[in-house]
Amino acid sequence: MILVVGSGIVGSWVAYQISKISKEDVVVCDYAEHRGDGISGRNSGVLHSGIYYPKESEKLKHCLRGYHLTLEFLKENHIPFDLCGKYITVGGNGDLSHKSEKLHLLYEKALQYEINETNLIDHLESIHPFLKGNLALNIQKTGVVAVPEYLKRLWEMCEASGVLFLKGKKCSIENGSIYLTDVQDGSKELAEVSGFVNAAGLYSDEIIRQAGNHQYEIRPNKGEYFRLKKTLPLQKLVYPLPEEHSTALGVHYTFHLNGEAYAGPNSNWSSSKDDYKMETPRDAFYESLCNITNYYKEDDLSEGYVGLRPRLFKNGSAHTDFLIEQHPVDRPWLHLLGIESPGLTSSPSIGEEVAKRIQSFL
Ligand SMILES: Cc1cc2nc3c(=O)[nH]c(=O)nc-3n(C[C@H](O)[C@H](O)[C@H](O)COP(=O)(O)OP(=O)(O)OC[C@H]3O[C@@H](n4cnc5c(N)ncnc54)[C@H](O)[C@@H]3O)c2cc1C
Repeated sequence: MILVVGSGIVGSWVAYQISKISKEDVVVCDYAEHRGDGISGRNSGVLHSGIYYPKESEKLKHCLRGYHLTLEFLKENHIPFDLCGKYITVGGNGDLSHKSEKLHLLYEKALQYEINETNLIDHLESIHPFLKGNLALNIQKTGVVAVPEYLKRLWEMCEASGVLFLKGKKCSIENGSIYLTDVQDGSKELAEVSGFVNAAGLYSDEIIRQAGNHQYEIRPNKGEYFRLKKTLPLQKLVYPLPEEHSTALGVHYTFHLNGEAYAGPNSNWSSSKDDYKMETPRDAFYESLCNITNYYKEDDLSEGYVGLRPRLFKNGSAHTDFLIEQHPVDRPWLHLLGIESPGLTSSPSIGEEVAKRIQSFL
């Protein structure tokens, strides 16, 4: 049996990709009773182009391949998505000449990464008077997907491919053995595995520590969303330039395919891995939104939802890339750490790589 911990988008894609190439039984366990309650159910639902990520990074590699594989899956399975594209604007606040330089650097990256149909737009404000910032990057290769439908279909495809989902089962490792504990009655059983994948999102550091590697820590970083009363009169996502000293992309405008519009997510350290409380006052959030648009009044914002980013630290220092770590080195056990944005976009590609590595162990 191959055991995958976590039925979020990453664990599910891992299980699906393994089931396509392996004859082994594939089992996914999750301690939650409802699948998709973790990070995968609380994000922006955006399919990213890859423009933000450093060359040679795992994020870039998986985002580029994942975008392609995701679109293939969505089309084949008739899941709603919209390749609406996005603007990244210099915005209305701050040092605009520094921001223009940064935007030009992003444009160069788009050319380097062959992210086609990307162009610089001068006079954004005269084309769309409700947006802020004169200079913007227009990226056509970006979309939004209906995440609940996507997850549901992926689970159906997993099951059709023979994957077994165990709900309400918490995985732990004790003295080198893997156990599954029933969260209702506390009964515990030993899991005999020929391959093991830790895709536990925010909790993947705890599992790798139980396996004996104490280098890693995941600190939850809170991203809050405010719901907007109406959509912009423009079917496009609108982002500011990404934050300078973090992997957060900055408070942006996004919409869901059901017609809801949101501003967010911001970025603040969270007190715990289950702290989903909204904390930022509306006026402060409104101020961030005003950097990219003047279309809304403060009253148009109401509390939305919160997502937690699994920020990875290695020996106390930030590790800003995805990490797939084998531990112990003599066992077919892989741990997926720091799968933050663009994890939704990248998940089929991460699944593909993990499946190949697991298959090579068998
Ligand atoms: C605010 C925010 C916005 C984002 N926006 C985007 C975006 O627009 N585009 C994009 O590409 N990416 C985005 N991402 C990133 C993306 O959402 C994540 O990378 C992805 O959802 C991570 O999925 P996962 O399966 O690793 O984690 P999860 O969905 O959290 O799944 C992990 C599962 O493991 C289970 N689990 C944990 N510990 C155990 C245990 N011991 N035993 C059993 N089960 C366990 C949990 O219950 C959970 O269900 C965003 C992330 C955040 C936080």
